[in-house]
Amino acid sequence: MGFEKFGRISFTAQTKVAAFVDHLERGEVVASRCTQCGARYFPPRADCYRCLSDKVVLEPIQGTGRLVSFTTANYAPTGFEADVPYTLAMAEFDGLKVFGRMSKEVPEQELAVGLPVRLKVVRMPDGQLSYEFVKA
Ligand SMILES: [Zn+2]
Repeated sequence: MGFEKFGRISFTAQTKVAAFVDHLERGEVVASRCTQCGARYFPPRADCYRCLSDKVVLEPIQGTGRLVSFTTANYAPTGFEADVPYTLAMAEFDGLKVFGRMSKEVPEQELAVGLPVRLKVVRMPDGQLSYEFVKA
């Protein structure tokens, strides 16, 4: 499966990290880890830009992260107009920074830097897959 199954707007279907979407189907959000130097990447990268190795593995991002930053979008780019307002967030999981949307189930007044969060795979009504942060 390629990236045509991910999100609202189809990006290129063919990528070296298309397995990201296969993992979403199984309920996992994955990052890549370079087996040569240990660098971790999100979104996953097929090649390590630190040591230039292509020996990477995809690993689930597990456990609880902490909200690092967030902002609410009231205007959206093409394809996302029906979603506003939505909150974009960055959270850190054991040193790995992950970017994504905050679940609309989390009340805006509860959002704060340091809030414990976890990742959740989301299947949209049209069958597309994505992920979001929810309260841990
Ligand atoms: Zn590396």
